[in-house]
Amino acid sequence: MYINGDWVFAASGDKLTTVNPSTGEPIGTAPSANARDVDIAVGAARAAFPAWSGLPQGERNKVLFAIAAKIRENAHDIALVEGEEHGTPYNDAFGACMGAAEKFEWSANAAAALKGDEIPVPAANTLTYVKREPVGVIGFITPWNLPTIMTAVKLAPAIALGNTCVIKPPSINSLTGLKFAHVLSMVEGLPKGVVNFITGSGSVAGAALASHPDVDMIGFTGSSETGKAILASAAPTVKKCVMELGGNNPVLIFPDADIDASLKVLAWRQFNNSGQHCSGPGRYYVHEKVYDEFVSKFAAYAESLKVGDPSDKSVQMGPLVSREHQQKVLGYIDGALAEGARLVTGGVASETGFFITPTVLADCTHGMKAAREEIFGPVAVLIKYTDADDLVALANDSDYGLCAHVWTRDIGAGMKLIGKLHVGAVFINCQMLANEQPWGTSIKESGIGKEGGTYGLLEFTDAKLVCVNYN
Ligand code: NAP
Repeated sequence: MYINGDWVFAASGDKLTTVNPSTGEPIGTAPSANARDVDIAVGAARAAFPAWSGLPQGERNKVLFAIAAKIRENAHDIALVEGEEHGTPYNDAFGACMGAAEKFEWSANAAAALKGDEIPVPAANTLTYVKREPVGVIGFITPWNLPTIMTAVKLAPAIALGNTCVIKPPSINSLTGLKFAHVLSMVEGLPKGVVNFITGSGSVAGAALASHPDVDMIGFTGSSETGKAILASAAPTVKKCVMELGGNNPVLIFPDADIDASLKVLAWRQFNNSGQHCSGPGRYYVHEKVYDEFVSKFAAYAESLKVGDPSDKSVQMGPLVSREHQQKVLGYIDGALAEGARLVTGGVASETGFFITPTVLADCTHGMKAAREEIFGPVAVLIKYTDADDLVALANDSDYGLCAHVWTRDIGAGMKLIGKLHVGAVFINCQMLANEQPWGTSIKESGIGKEGGTYGLLEFTDAKLVCVNYN
């Protein structure tokens, strides 16, 4: 693990093994931290905080730009590790590294542009203003679905603003986390202790980080279930928690939708990263007028994809991340079929590794488990509807509220839905368009707070009120 600028084993000597999801074979081991290791890492981050937060922004920014350069220089190597351990196709993993580098540059520039606020007051010879200060020591607990970019999107704004961090990557992608740490360890000018990486299980290392009394804030991305456990761990010390949690995102396809254009976006999103995207489509409500066309074109797209070894640059979809997740996704497919869904294509699990062929399930209903829960896999759940009147109610009928996708040529009708959809983001005839935007929501069980863009940047600051009477 990378603690206080040194490479260390877990105090207990325990290790965990990670597996290549394309082959099912073990690829290496990482230390398995316990509360003692977490305590040392938090101590290092705390000790580094005064000097790092006290640096002028321009000095910190030099380090952030150096990190970006080092990530670009090592993108090929990071992408290989992510491909081998997570199953990300090479081009996607390489692209994620470029995106990660941009996060550091963007965060440096955005932090430099942040200003405090002066509040007008009626009394003479007084001054009231708000000063933005870093929160302190931040514990990050990250998910496996996009290991490199998920680390960068948290770390970059946090350290740009003077915070120091302890990061716990997902245990099944520990080596990808440590590869990222290795790249950071080569950055000249990054003081020891500013960024620390610990590996280990969520229930031990993650829980110890979330409950540690000297951690000021937790930044978490993962399932809503784990999010609730982390909130409980963080509650006794009343930590600030930014939580990016699960989703089951509705897709509304109106009868006038441009089906080809919609599928270019949605089918790609459905199968990219094997469907392991929080913002991806969860359940599709397709008007009966265009339903058959939508189903057959979706299936044709699914069947056209090249699935296989992520290191082959022509491969478009790799495996799912683990045997456990593969089995979970297969369970949703089997459950939907038992409840009356029709398997249009896919649904086949590989004998070697953790692949599932791109799957399209037609004739699903809103009440099916596969439509109610987050599958997080390469499975499109298609539901036919006839009456648009209850569509918004169906879309909103979920424990989640992360985002919604709308496809219609009647842009006015689409815009009118924005206020009615109880979600944190609405995509009309498109997917995410900007690189830097606020993501996440505090709606229902999908999270608390924002990540990304200026809104996300501000989460890593505390707004200190200063009132001065100079009479
Ligand atoms: P997960 O199982 O919830 O795990 C996420 C992280 O939490 C891992 O590092 C895990 O460690 C750790 N953890 C587990 N139990 C813990 C505990 N009791 N205390 C502290 N930490 C603990 O999530 P995942 O399966 O990796 O990721 C998939 C989920 O993430 C999906 O639900 C998806 O929607 C969500 N997600 C949301 C967003 C968003 O922006 N809203 C983005 C991406 C993903 P271990 O690996 O050791 O279990």
